[in-house]
Amino acid sequence: MKHDHIEDVTFWPIDIPTTDPFVVATGSRTVAENVFVRIRLNDSTEGYGEAAPFPEVGGEDRESCLQTLARLAPSLIGQPVHDYRALSRHLAEQAPSQPAARCAIETALLDAYCRTITIHLWRIWGGADVRPRVTDITIPIATQDKTLSLARSWYERGFRLFKMKVGNDVDADVHRLETLHRALPGISFIGDGNQGFTRAECLAFVDGVRRFGGVIVLLEQPVVRDDLDSLVAIRRDTGIPVAADESVRSLDDARRVITQGAADYINIKIMKTGVLEAAEIVSLTLNSGLKLMIGGMLESRIAMGCSFSMVLGMKGFEVLDLDTPLLLATDPVQGGYRYDGPTLQPWQEPGLGCSVPVPANAHTTNIRGDNPSRP
Ligand SMILES: [Mg+2]
Repeated sequence: MKHDHIEDVTFWPIDIPTTDPFVVATGSRTVAENVFVRIRLNDSTEGYGEAAPFPEVGGEDRESCLQTLARLAPSLIGQPVHDYRALSRHLAEQAPSQPAARCAIETALLDAYCRTITIHLWRIWGGADVRPRVTDITIPIATQDKTLSLARSWYERGFRLFKMKVGNDVDADVHRLETLHRALPGISFIGDGNQGFTRAECLAFVDGVRRFGGVIVLLEQPVVRDDLDSLVAIRRDTGIPVAADESVRSLDDARRVITQGAADYINIKIMKTGVLEAAEIVSLTLNSGLKLMIGGMLESRIAMGCSFSMVLGMKGFEVLDLDTPLLLATDPVQGGYRYDGPTLQPWQEPGLGCSVPVPANAHTTNIRGDNPSRP
């Protein structure tokens, strides 16, 4: 057997509390209920991946991810990791509506593959521009006081682009932005409605922010995902770029948004589509003349490192929303990229360059009986 065959697949749930309640228009979280995956090859190379399901966006939860991983893992055993594209297609056929679970496996495959041939994960995507990059910071829906205290602490750490979760209450949203605008000089906003606004409410929100002089650089998914007509109208009536997030959960969704002229940006998230389909959406988006942003659900630096690798390896990501590890109270990841204020610093080691400790009770699928050299 060659040296890059998959020997075992191990996965386990992990709870990571958030520093503050993560409240958006469609739901809230105080704990990221994620799943880590480790794939080990027969030369002992390891690769890591993560599923961060967000039920309100993708319909998956942790339980369904664990069940999907248990179902998919046996088909990977003994397969060559350099066939990661074929393996990914197989996973998509077997679990079409479980992209977060597939994302975890795909990330671990890519990581293991890159480590066996000693390249950084970003090399997989083609060219590379490995300069450090700056992310925005997300402010969840909260009271005025809480919004200001959160934003002030990020501001002091150097953040200037604030992604404001909005969409529940136009007046309260406008007041929250106004409070920050008056207290923190030089900031600008992304307004992320998470489908919470009607078209009219979104227009009222923009009017309200303009009245006090606030700068909105992007309106993200103001209305429900299927209402592309309203996205078109909001682009036209506000003159502010619109990003499609929940509206794009597949390559077909992206085609629809592009064809209808419903967005200026597509928000890439590997949890919505899996990793390789996300890369296809990137190509389609750029070829169509639209712009890219990239974000996450509530993931640690494992999944976010994979997203960051796409930024480093592909051109065209103009807005980075790669902040979710900063919203978590603990960081279970060793090594990998790091944050320097709002700046993400690339890593040195091959693959993702990071790992997480495997707990004793993790679920493992393997061929140990076929390989007595391993204890
Ligand atoms: Mg969003």
